[in-house]
Amino acid sequence: RNGLLLGNRYESTAAASDASDPPAEKFEYQAEVSRLMDLIVHSLYSNKEVFLRELIRHVTSYYNASDALDKLRFLSVTEPQLLKDGLDLDIRIQTDKDNGIIHLTDSGIGMTRQELVDCLGTIAQSGTAKFLKAVKESKDSGADSNLIGQFGVGFYSAFLVSDRVVVSTKSPKSDKQYVWEGKADASSYTIREETDPEKLIPRGTRLTLYLKRDDKDFAHPERVQKLVKNYSQFVSFPIYTWQEKG
Ligand code: ADP
Ligand code: MG
Repeated sequence: RNGLLLGNRYESTAAASDASDPPAEKFEYQAEVSRLMDLIVHSLYSNKEVFLRELIRHVTSYYNASDALDKLRFLSVTEPQLLKDGLDLDIRIQTDKDNGIIHLTDSGIGMTRQELVDCLGTIAQSGTAKFLKAVKESKDSGADSNLIGQFGVGFYSAFLVSDRVVVSTKSPKSDKQYVWEGKADASSYTIREETDPEKLIPRGTRLTLYLKRDDKDFAHPERVQKLVKNYSQFVSFPIYTWQEKG
């Protein structure tokens, strides 16, 4: 298998629900990403709560939700039409504690279909690449646990606490919204078009984390609020947290 082929597509599967839905396409992770996922899913790393830091902001100033908003704000200087929808720039975290689900939505730059393949199936430039390099260089087999916290593993940190992660995203460059879906312990992920009208967003990215059985506590609003307070002090966009009605 050629690990350097980026987001190598190898299979097309028909969507289960509706024959008129565009089919979900299956992609194989780049070899480095598979390795990274494996380390994350099976690590004994106990400070799992860093997932929220990684998804909101990154210690080395690589952000996800917040970066996506920064990028949009920056681009809008030369392309003001990007903001013409009047949508606020913010991050919303919704918890569903009964079902152990967290939704994290930003109204940032979003991703096109190709960006989903490039960004969430292949290795990221920054922290994650450094992490893998450090793991490789380390002789100590348990080292990856410490290294996860040290370097940050970006988006993939969602799999510290989740069995399944769904990313629904809409870029201003595309008129379609796309859904990326990955599971812990799987070597492939899928991308399909978002067709559920209730799930359409005007712009940005909505992450849904289906928490592991032992990590469902993270969906308690108080827990999330406390973590957000710790991790978000340098994020220059409002972060709202609220609880889904029972
Ligand atoms: P890093 O943030 O260090 O680049 P990540 O694994 O956290 O690595 O994310 C990989 C890439 O996925 C990011 O560089 C970015 O291009 C894209 N990405 C992740 N989250 C978002 C988001 N919420 N909105 C837009 N793009 C995102
Ligand atoms: Mg990141």
